[in-house]
Amino acid sequence: MLKLYNTLTRKKEVFRPIEDKKVKIYACGLTVYYMPHIGNMRKYVNDDIIRRVLQHDGYSVEHIQNITDVGHLISDADEGDDKLRLAAEKEHKSMQDIAAFYTGLMLKDYKMLNILMPEKMPKASDHVNEMIELIKKLEDKGYLYKTEDGLYFDTSKLKDYGKLTGLTFKQLNEQLKAGARVEMIKGKKHITDFSVWRLASPHMREMVWDSPWGRGFPGWHIECSAMSMKYLGKRYDIHTGGIDHIQVHHTNEIAQSEGATGSKVVNFWVHFNFLLVAEQKMSKSIKNIYTVQEILDKGYSPLALRLLYMSGHYRQQLNFTFEALASAENTLKGIYLFLERLNEVKNAVKNDDSKEFRKNIAAHKKAFFKDLDDDINIPLALSEMHAIISATNVREAAGKLNRPEARSVLKTMLELDSVLGLDFEKHAKAKKEPLAEEIMELIRERENARKARDFQRADEIRKILKTDYKIILEDTPEGVKWHKE
Ligand SMILES: [Zn+2]
Repeated sequence: MLKLYNTLTRKKEVFRPIEDKKVKIYACGLTVYYMPHIGNMRKYVNDDIIRRVLQHDGYSVEHIQNITDVGHLISDADEGDDKLRLAAEKEHKSMQDIAAFYTGLMLKDYKMLNILMPEKMPKASDHVNEMIELIKKLEDKGYLYKTEDGLYFDTSKLKDYGKLTGLTFKQLNEQLKAGARVEMIKGKKHITDFSVWRLASPHMREMVWDSPWGRGFPGWHIECSAMSMKYLGKRYDIHTGGIDHIQVHHTNEIAQSEGATGSKVVNFWVHFNFLLVAEQKMSKSIKNIYTVQEILDKGYSPLALRLLYMSGHYRQQLNFTFEALASAENTLKGIYLFLERLNEVKNAVKNDDSKEFRKNIAAHKKAFFKDLDDDINIPLALSEMHAIISATNVREAAGKLNRPEARSVLKTMLELDSVLGLDFEKHAKAKKEPLAEEIMELIRERENARKARDFQRADEIRKILKTDYKIILEDTPEGVKWHKE
């Protein structure tokens, strides 16, 4: 039975979906105006793991992740310009081009990190009508007021505004007032009030829309209320995001969604902690921001990064270092070699204690999934996987591991990987059948021809292999490789 820590109640709660066997998740996505970095990606790998655990528990999952391509201002306090607008000006591109470019990079990272694609990734700019409808509803219910620069939500009108932070409306306002570094925006009634619609200044040409309140663009928070309810309904199971979104973005999302519907919308609020780099917050000034592509360029595999993410619990900070990454890479290689070896076990010995061995493996597997069910305790679950590997290694070293046992461990490892997502399958497949001697001979002859710089003969052999044997050759830095057509 899965338990998740719910930020709203500040405790681990048993997870029960609203609909039987189906789980609806809304995951806050990226504002696509900069290179997504390894800190961002930790969040999306965490989303992916929750999703995979639920799928393993037998649920079908509907996972929606928004793409913020308009409306995200420089500060959470409704100041500054739209982040995308600034990036577009700086890079001399349109806002659409900026959004498309960085969305592309994000999707590439997803692929490299083996993240399962969300069912839908709606863009804010495609849902401005839905946002306007929602704002109208809030206006009808008396939650909004106008200022010089647009339309604001009056947070004093909700009796439980701020509940996600554990503070009352009053406490939250006092705390913010005490820490305020800037003057309050003109016309705003309370520090916690926030913009739902912002009027455009005359020079704005793109990403502006007509609305009953004038030409402008939506506030950032309204997109998540509008799109989550459009795709998942007025009540859904899980909403995820970084812990930095608790106080403003998610608190305001609750205000809008619950203000409009009059009831609770999200059952579980799940928040992920940050990634540090060498014990420091990532920042441009100290140049410690890395992307997944940079990890790859430095010779590490992105899946080693995925494994490194899994060395920490999602509610804890995790420290990234290149030493830790190198160590994760080693561990991963070790696991892959283990899987390949399991595949090659031919030992036919009969063991009296085969049953006990399998029972031991099954107990570790059970513990692995039990750890995951305890608020996704993946570091602990990984220790169960390592216990399976070492028990199997000990048995192999003693010359006892037989083929049926090896097959069964392999099957278990693949089941664990349905959550880990470390591509065990690729290494658990039987090696290619040896090629017919005739073909091997031709490949060798071609190699010799190439060495002797007889490229004509080498080409002829390549053609023979292709037409007569349906074998495609590929010359790589590691030597010649082949595959069937
Ligand atoms: Zn959001």
